[in-house]
Formats: sequence, structure tokens, C-alpha cells
Amino acid sequence: MERDARRRARRGDAAQAGRRRPSHARQAGHAFRAPELPARRHAGPRAAAPGRAMVTRAEYAWHVLDTVADPEIPVVSIRELGILREVNERGDTLEVVITPTYSGCPAMGQIEDDVRAALAASDIRADIVTRLAPAWTTDWMTDAAKDKLRAYGIAPPHTRAPSDNVVQFMKPRARGESVACPQCGSTNTTETSHFGSTACKALYRCLDCREPFDHFKPY
Ligand SMILES: [Zn+2]
Repeated sequence: MERDARRRARRGDAAQAGRRRPSHARQAGHAFRAPELPARRHAGPRAAAPGRAMVTRAEYAWHVLDTVADPEIPVVSIRELGILREVNERGDTLEVVITPTYSGCPAMGQIEDDVRAALAASDIRADIVTRLAPAWTTDWMTDAAKDKLRAYGIAPPHTRAPSDNVVQFMKPRARGESVACPQCGSTNTTETSHFGSTACKALYRCLDCREPFDHFKPY
């Protein structure tokens, strides 16, 4: 508990930046709404006319959903994490496909609620489909998301080795990987607990700056 409180305090700025996202997002969404959404008969990709940006319903939905933050790591969006997979036109409605970070992820119900709320707030009708296969992998995370994790104090996952196509619960050391400290960049770090604040993170400690940190395990 104490450790978590300290970590939250240290990450205050980053967490606030995460919380500020929604209002910024709403503004962006509002600006996007200015041109009329294409009616069904016009749905589908179209070229942008010079000086006037046209967006399809699906593109607009992608834009809106890019503002939905991960419930556990508020500085990254579900789109950046690769949880948001597809937005498909389905008659009068859209189909939004999401893939949980791993099956049984406790945040998944929250993510679905947040997606539904964001779509409703922008008057987008959509069905939400949870797809479990293919399984989510940390490779779907964008580089920008990895940079944001690092800035937030979480060591991002390594790029997965091609042979690792199953959830990895063995220690990274066994695979000869070093985890760089997100505070000082040192690779002189040690794993203190294979399960950190959530099952998908391990707790590490930097032997140089002595700061504890979470490592998002690659899988
Ligand atoms: Zn360090």
C-alpha cells in the first residue's frame, strides 16, 4: 500500500496528464463533428477535398476511441495499446472490435464501458465485439505507447521474439533480456516480484538509482 502511494505521488504529473485527456479529447471531437457525418449511402472511404477534411463514420469512431485511456495506465489510449482492433461498417451501425490484453483481464469490463460511453457521447451507434483470437500481444503496442509508459515510470515490453507465441510467465532473465530502468536508463536492474501491481506487470528495482518500477511483461 505504502509503495503504491509513493509511486502515485511520484507519478502525479503523468497521472494528471492522463486525466486531462478527456476534456482535450472532447474538444477535438467537437471540432471533428463540424462537418456533417456522412449518411449511410455515402459511407465508405472518400478522398478529402482540398481544404476540407471529410471523414467516414468509421474514421470518426477511430478518432473518438483514440481518446479512451487504458483504465490501469491512463497515459496511453486503448488504440495505442492495440486493444482497439477494428471499426467496421455494419448497415446503420458500426461494429467496434476490441481484444483484451489477456483473457480474464480485470480491466476489460471497464474498457468496454468506457468505449460505450465515448461512442454514446459522440452520437455514434455501434456494437462492441470482444475478440479473443488472435490473442493480444505486446507487439501491438505502438512505439509512442512504449515511450509514454517509460515516461510514466513503467519499463515497456521488449519486442517479442518470433518463437514466443504464448503467454510468458517465466522470468525475463531466463531469456537473457535486461530491463532498462525508466528513471535513469540503467540496465543494472533486478526483478523483485514477477507479479507487480497487476498480473501483466513485474516489479523491478534499479540497482543504480535504487528506484522500484513496474515492467510491462512482453507476451
Ligand atoms: Zn534507475
